[in-house]
Amino acid sequence: MAFELPKLDYAYDALEPHIDARTMEIHHTKHHAAYTTNLNNGISGTEFEGKTIGQILANISKASAAVRNNGGGYYNHNLFWKVMGPNGGGAPTGDLLDALNKYFGSFDKFKEAFSNAAATRFGSGWAWLVKSGNELKVTSTPNQDNPLMDIAEVKGTPILGIDVWEHAYYLKYQNRRPDYIAAFWNVINWDEVARRLKE
Ligand code: MN
Repeated sequence: MAFELPKLDYAYDALEPHIDARTMEIHHTKHHAAYTTNLNNGISGTEFEGKTIGQILANISKASAAVRNNGGGYYNHNLFWKVMGPNGGGAPTGDLLDALNKYFGSFDKFKEAFSNAAATRFGSGWAWLVKSGNELKVTSTPNQDNPLMDIAEVKGTPILGIDVWEHAYYLKYQNRRPDYIAAFWNVINWDEVARRLKE
């Protein structure tokens, strides 16, 4: 079974004005589509063919650069579309808020740590909130790497992630990555992040 580009749960313009429709459309139909196609091509005829994306990422040190880059790109964008939504933003509640308070001191301190990880990731990459054992941690990864990869410095299961590649924001925000990061807080689907925390 080949990996397939997932459909979004909302329209390309649903995250306006925070993330513009043109960026969303190109990001999904060009970038994510290419990662998906290139992942399928990269695993074809290798030991990774037929494996789940989780199995591939957990053994990525044995994979080609193409599988590392495109397998990461496939997984990371699947998560990214889900943790955003048209009625997003605000603050989390319940167990997720309790956990953020416990590991970061407060929701505002968590926001600061996550925003800082996103802003200071040099070049292209991602910032993450991960479940790591019983803890929550903020980390960032270069390129299309992620914390599920066996090569990650900080390992864990991502429950929130922000894409800080220029293709994620340049059309609307040009070089102003901090403005894009600030806008991201308005589109986070906290119900989905909470669901991933429980999983
Ligand atoms: Mn991207």
